[in-house]
Amino acid sequence: MEKKVLFTYIDDPAQVKVETYVGHGGYTAWQKALKQMKPADVIDEVKKSGLRGRGGAGFPAGLKWSFVPKDSPKPRYLICNADESEPGTCKDRVLMEHDPHGVIEGMAIASYAIGSHLCFIYIRGEFGGPIRCMEQAVKEAYAKGYLGKNVFGTGYDLDMIVHTGGGAYICGEETALLNSLEGERGMSRIRPPFPAIEGLYACPTVVNNVETLASVPHIINNGAEWYTSMGTEKSAGTKIFSLSGHVNKPGNYELELGTPLSYLINDLGGGIKDGLKLKAVIPGGSSTPFLLPDQLDTKLDYESIAAAGSMLGSGGVIVLHEKTCIVWVIERLIHFYRHESCGKCTPCREGTGWLEQLISRIERGEGKPGDLEKIESICDNILGRTVCPLGDAAVMPIQSALKLFRDEWQYHIDNKRCLVKSEFAFA
Ligand code: SF4
Repeated sequence: MEKKVLFTYIDDPAQVKVETYVGHGGYTAWQKALKQMKPADVIDEVKKSGLRGRGGAGFPAGLKWSFVPKDSPKPRYLICNADESEPGTCKDRVLMEHDPHGVIEGMAIASYAIGSHLCFIYIRGEFGGPIRCMEQAVKEAYAKGYLGKNVFGTGYDLDMIVHTGGGAYICGEETALLNSLEGERGMSRIRPPFPAIEGLYACPTVVNNVETLASVPHIINNGAEWYTSMGTEKSAGTKIFSLSGHVNKPGNYELELGTPLSYLINDLGGGIKDGLKLKAVIPGGSSTPFLLPDQLDTKLDYESIAAAGSMLGSGGVIVLHEKTCIVWVIERLIHFYRHESCGKCTPCREGTGWLEQLISRIERGEGKPGDLEKIESICDNILGRTVCPLGDAAVMPIQSALKLFRDEWQYHIDNKRCLVKSEFAFA
């Protein structure tokens, strides 16, 4: 069900100001962590809470923090990944614009947990509003002594840098983000070594998503048990879902994990636009496989969506009604992924280009017999064979569309036109 934790004060325009944030109980978790908890206690609490990465991978946050070597003589870095670029996902920007101190407080606590004294927030370059909000909030946090030297008189120093990216989707992938932050071209790195061992400037580094970090102060204040009382056994807490496409009320909604997809689309989203029927849903950002109308009872948690054949991903739920041409949708997506491929590895660099050519040709009514088999073969040669997950992200929706809507693809090739009267237009 809808449950506001991160969104408790999201409609209060004054929440961006440090005084209002503090008035609403802000920075108490940071104080509690610094004064009453050891770094290992913070990690343990977050581990117990079951908080999983909200950027897409769903990796347990506390476990990630525990990978940072405790005996390393090198500095450690915490990076907040605010390069939100997955089509269909627009939640992190809202947190930064409406509750920036919540993000700062989460970053501060995570930094303390891993022993970092310098942290960064890497914000997508196009996010003018969020960048300004975060810069202003960081200034206020310094002025109030929540950042800087000797925070709360504990002797702990923490500096925070707001860094803007250049607008490349690939920089949301953590190793490409590290390259970009170091001033290099945003290209993914081959792992291992993993960032927790050798990340920014070859030092131990943790990269966490905005929503993940913004959840941390609530866990420290209310306890892991409170957090696990929401959601499901393996998918604890709440998550923000960005609902877009052919629904009457698109928007960001915070739900307990495990809430049925139908509740999000029909109850909160007001159902399908223009009284049309649902055709398909992309549940976790544009890189995830489609769900069909008979899967609307699927619960929005990591395990249930995986069991239904897709992924929770970033929580970008894109709804498509019956007049949507699936070939057109896939053409748009492959254009995006081809454009955003960093070019480092051959299957992704070449394969996404070939896919775009073939799919565009079919969409234009110039498809040939054998094109679908070629597309399948190229997808098979990309999936699981690339340096970073962008390759998989590019092909998973294509494979899903071919499996679920093959008749539409075939119709395009045989009849040189679309099977549905396409009226694809997002509100
Ligand atoms: Fe770059 Fe694509 Fe290879 Fe990732 S999969 S490293 S984006 S070429």
